[in-house]
Amino acid sequence: MKFDPASNIQDLLQFGEFGDVNPSITDSATYTFLEAKTMVDTFSGEQQGCFLYSRHWNPSNRYLAEALAAMEGTESAWVTGSGMAAITNAILQLCDTGSHIVSSVTTYGGTFAFLANYLKKFKIDVTFVDPTNLEQIEKAIRPNTKVIYTETMTNPMLQISDIESISKIANKHGIKVVVDNTFTPMIVAPAKLGAHIVVYSMTKFINGKNDCVAGAICADAEFINALSDVNTGTSMLLGPVLDPLRSSSIHKNLHTLHIRMKQHSHNAMYLAKRFKELGLKYNYPGMPEHPQHELFKKMMNPEYGFGGLIAIDMGTAEKATMLMEKMQQKGVGYLAVSLGYFKTLFSNSGKSTSSEVPDEVQKAMGLSEGLIRFSVGLDNDIERTFNMINECLNEAQ
Ligand code: PLP
Repeated sequence: MKFDPASNIQDLLQFGEFGDVNPSITDSATYTFLEAKTMVDTFSGEQQGCFLYSRHWNPSNRYLAEALAAMEGTESAWVTGSGMAAITNAILQLCDTGSHIVSSVTTYGGTFAFLANYLKKFKIDVTFVDPTNLEQIEKAIRPNTKVIYTETMTNPMLQISDIESISKIANKHGIKVVVDNTFTPMIVAPAKLGAHIVVYSMTKFINGKNDCVAGAICADAEFINALSDVNTGTSMLLGPVLDPLRSSSIHKNLHTLHIRMKQHSHNAMYLAKRFKELGLKYNYPGMPEHPQHELFKKMMNPEYGFGGLIAIDMGTAEKATMLMEKMQQKGVGYLAVSLGYFKTLFSNSGKSTSSEVPDEVQKAMGLSEGLIRFSVGLDNDIERTFNMINECLNEAQ
C-alpha cells in the first residue's frame, strides 16, 4: 500500500482537553501525582504514560512527536529545541568514547563541524566519504563503527543518498543509519527505506514560518525511550527540550506541510527548466541530468515532487554576491541562510552554511565558491519570479 504521510497525520485524532480542535497547550514545567508511589514508579520507568517534568516529556511535545512518528512511519519520535540538538543527541546516544562514524562529507556545515571537530573530545573518529559511493562507505567501516550518517539530499550539493542500499550495508555490519531528512520531508520516508533513525531540523520545511528553531528525532520506541531515560538518556541529561508553546505552533504548521511541499517543488522545477534553457550551470535533482535522478525517482513519493532546493554556479564568489544583492533589491526573496520558508531565500553556501567546511574539503567535494543555493518559496506566480531573476542575471554578467 502507498505510504501517505499527510493522511497519516490527518487521521490522528488529537483534540484538546475541552474538545478544542487543536490539542491543549500545556504551559507547565512540572506535574502533580495523586499518589507518591506513582511518582517513584515513573522515575524508575515502571510507570509509563504519566508526565513528570517538562524536560522529560510534556503533553504538547507528545502530540507533535506522535504526528511526526505518523508522518515518518516510525514507532516513536522526540522533539528538540533545534535541528542540531536532534543530530547531536542521536549521535551521542549511539556512540561511546572511542567509537567510529562513517559520514557523508557533504552535510550541513554545523553537522560537519560537530563530527570533524567536537567529537574529538570523546575520541570519536569520523571517516568522511562520498555519500553516493556505496563501495567507499562499506570500505570505511571498522570494527568500532557505530553509525553511518548521511542526508537524504545533501546540503548544499543536492546529492541523493541511496538509503536502502546504505541501510543494507549497515545491517550486515550491525551499525545504525542516521539520516537527516530536513530537505525532503514527505518526499522521502527514510525509515521506510531502512534507516534506523531519522533526524530533522524542523526550523525548515516542517515549520515553514522561520519563526523558531526546532528539531526532531524519529525512530523505534526503544531508541526514543533510551534518549529520555532519566539515568542515561542523552536528551534527558543534556536537556535540549522544545518549549511546548513552540511545539504547539509547529504542530499546526505540520498540517499544511503536504500542500507547501508540493508548491515548493513545483516552483523549483519551473526554475530548473528555465535555468536550463538559459544555459546556466544549475543543479536540481528533478532534472534528468542530475546524476541520481533515477535513484531519487525510485525513493520518492512522486506526488510531492523533487523538493524546493536548487543551486546555480556563478563561478566566483564575487559574481554570486552581486547576483544575490540584486535579487534581494528586486524582490526575488531574501539574502539569508536557512530554507523551507514561504519566501525564497538564497545564500552563497561556501561562505555561509558550509563555511565550517575547510576550503580544500569544499574543493574536493566539488563545492564551487560561486554556488548560490536557493530555497524556492511558495510564490504564486513563479514565472514573474523567474523574470526578476533573469533581469538580475543580465545585470550581473
Ligand atoms: N540539517 C540541515 C540539513 C540543515 O540545513 C540545518 C540548518 O541549517 C540543520 C540540520 C541544523 O538545524 P538547526 O539550525 O535547526 O539547529
